Amino acid sequence: MSTIVLKFGGSSVADNQKLNMVANKIIKLYTEENNIVVVVSAQGKTTDNLIKEAEELSIKPDKREIDSLLSVGEQITASKLSILLNYLGYEAISLTGWQSGIYTNSDHQNAIIEKIDLSRIKKEIEKGKIVIVTGFQGVDKNNDITTLGRGGSDTTAVALAAELKADKCYIYSDVDGIYTADPNKVKNTKKLENISYEEMKTLSTEGAKVLHDRCVEIGEKYKVPIITESTFNDKPGTIITDKLESTGVKSIIKKDLSKVSIIGYGMTSKGDILETILDIASKNNIEILNIDISRVKISIYFKDIIKDYVLEELHDRLT
Ligand code: ASP
Ligand code: MG
Repeated sequence: MSTIVLKFGGSSVADNQKLNMVANKIIKLYTEENNIVVVVSAQGKTTDNLIKEAEELSIKPDKREIDSLLSVGEQITASKLSILLNYLGYEAISLTGWQSGIYTNSDHQNAIIEKIDLSRIKKEIEKGKIVIVTGFQGVDKNNDITTLGRGGSDTTAVALAAELKADKCYIYSDVDGIYTADPNKVKNTKKLENISYEEMKTLSTEGAKVLHDRCVEIGEKYKVPIITESTFNDKPGTIITDKLESTGVKSIIKKDLSKVSIIGYGMTSKGDILETILDIASKNNIEILNIDISRVKISIYFKDIIKDYVLEELHDRLT
């Protein structure tokens, strides 16, 4: 019997009707004699809303507490899906990150999976159960809940597929594959039949929202074929493997960055402004692409859109 991992993103599990569609996909593959491990994201905009609510309470909420808050989103989906599958007559069980043996480092909100202990998942598979794992979360050596960074459920799925030596890892979402550009922004885009790990990794780090970048790295390292498909149709998606089927332009991607400028004559002679900037960037885990210096200003180009508290920290330490 082959083992496959299926991951369903937030918009695929947003409400009860969609959970039913997801359940039908799972049941179809289960009845085709596969061992099934399902990884789920939080429903719809749950994660965004939880972050917003935390930021209403504090300008810079504690990262450990954010992780415990956000991990709840995936737990809601996993247990609901399990309740539904059980009702439909299929034995399923939901497992959290720690119950699934997903051990990470302690880098809250951006944790890295260090080890997976499959014993519980395997035990449930052997009983014939459909195992539903909460994506995006793990546990560190202090038993604190960690999360893997936004979009991290993809990484949970591929990491589990690698450890389980699964045949394939399907990533289901509301887009059915990788396109020549974002189809929501560009007309006449075409879906790619396949793309290499390296090209996909680059697309992800340059801003494509389709897959979490670390999941592609893991897929590449452990040679897990990753297939992106739509939850809502049966069209073939895009297959990501180490095969380079063709060369030439694959996709074009736009990413919004942040530019912050500090203005004032003679500032470079007063203290080490650059050192402070670099320190703030590294403490907050944000990459600097470029720094522009003139007599009257320093402009910093950050690789992502920075949060207001980073601006506040720059302000407080530089003025
Ligand atoms: N729920 C998390 C997020 O929205 C993780 C995920 O969806 O993969 O970022
Ligand atoms: Mg996602």
